Amino acid sequence: MISYPDSYYAASANRASNYSELKGEVTADICVVGGGYSGLSTAIALQEKGYQVVLLEAANIGFGASGRNGGQLVNSFSRDIDHIEKHYGMDTAKAMGDMAFEGADCIRDLIKRYNIECDYKQGGFFAAFTDKQMKGLEHKQALWQRYGNNKLEMVSGKDLKTIVDTNAYVGGLVDQHCGHIHPLKLALGEAAALSSIGGQIFEQSKVIKIDEVKQGLNESVVVKTANGQVSAKTLVLAGNAYMGGLSPELSKKSMPCGTQIVTTEVLPEALTKSLIPSQYCVEDVNYKLDYYRITADNRLLFGGGVTYGGGDPASIKNFLKPHIDKIFPAMKDYKIDYAWGGDFLLTMSRLPQLGRMGSNIYYAQGYSGHGVNTSHLAGKLLAETIHGEHSRFEVFANLPHYNFPGGRMLRVPAVMMGAWYYGLRDKLGI
Ligand SMILES: Cc1cc2nc3c(=O)[nH]c(=O)nc-3n(C[C@H](O)[C@H](O)[C@H](O)COP(=O)(O)OP(=O)(O)OC[C@H]3O[C@@H](n4cnc5c(N)ncnc54)[C@H](O)[C@@H]3O)c2cc1C
Repeated sequence: MISYPDSYYAASANRASNYSELKGEVTADICVVGGGYSGLSTAIALQEKGYQVVLLEAANIGFGASGRNGGQLVNSFSRDIDHIEKHYGMDTAKAMGDMAFEGADCIRDLIKRYNIECDYKQGGFFAAFTDKQMKGLEHKQALWQRYGNNKLEMVSGKDLKTIVDTNAYVGGLVDQHCGHIHPLKLALGEAAALSSIGGQIFEQSKVIKIDEVKQGLNESVVVKTANGQVSAKTLVLAGNAYMGGLSPELSKKSMPCGTQIVTTEVLPEALTKSLIPSQYCVEDVNYKLDYYRITADNRLLFGGGVTYGGGDPASIKNFLKPHIDKIFPAMKDYKIDYAWGGDFLLTMSRLPQLGRMGSNIYYAQGYSGHGVNTSHLAGKLLAETIHGEHSRFEVFANLPHYNFPGGRMLRVPAVMMGAWYYGLRDKLGI
């Protein structure tokens, strides 16, 4: 039995996840592989449209990145819209820009419609260490305003201290369209929502084989687990960084990367209010960034670092504690209660990969660290296209999906070189 890592989220989740294992044969319209946000949001949207959906999760709901992440609803994509304008043309940029802020709305909509209790708080802050980074944020503000996000405000000088009280930054950008959540509570709430509208969920049900079946013009799939199988007209693969080799074609296009989080002991409320008076989530704008926020029970939750190829450093606490002390020297003597890591999925272009293989196998993956929002947008787009509304899905599906050069063995060193370069750029402030 595979269970959650020993995270703050697993310790503070507000409901248990105890869906049964798949045993025997089940038939459905749609089979979804993966119980993270991509799988859950796709499944909810399809079940709401009248399809009978079965979702299979190898471990428990939210076992992957969706139950471990920083909980920050960061808008747009890992590569921003200006990059898309330059490299993929204005039509693609306009279409993607029009969807860049929709993921956060999808989450707020699910929270509201299904009464999901997940500690949602409004407001996020991008923090700049240098004047050059401030210029970059001014550019981001103008860019995002052009695509309809008017909830942005540049902050510097003494106003900075009303957002986050540190001398590490020169200023930053507030985004009120952003916010933060307890990620595992959100995933478990989405599973409960799916179940409440008739979707079937099976946990501890790892898909080990996919058979495509053709009978005349009809195509379907048979998806096998250790003790059962699902026959469905359509399959959605949403295993992201945790899917291993189930689909060699998808695995070639992407690379799992680890990132880590720690959570402190419960802090005096006055201290949390002085560290982050705004109570926004914060992320800096370095390539290898730190991200943090205060939890509902007054802990500092702090993440950072990237391990290419996935996995964690020897001691997550030792790795992250100096990052915390640099931003907040007042935290030096406070204890770390929880430390854990998780994998997100990087693509060569750093743009998400949504697509179809054959006529009835769909996938969404590779949000490149920017997946809380984008996975929810992806779920909506997958449901639209399966329901016959193709235009918005096609915008993403038509983006080039590059394979990592050199296959699994070489892709780690190749990307590490890139990360070393960007890490050095951060250090030199260029
Ligand atoms: C530590 C960490 C911090 C992050 N912080 C942020 C953040 O603050 N903001 C942000 O926007 N993004 C963040 N991300 C990224 C974000 O969490 C992910 O992009 C997003 O959750 C991906 O959702 P998903 O459903 O596609 O994948 P996952 O949540 O990884 O779900 C995939 C699921 O599929 C299951 N699965 C895989 N293979 C099979 C199989 N064969 N059979 C059955 N089930 C299978 C897995 O067990 C897993 O539960 C972070 C990621 C990590 C790891």
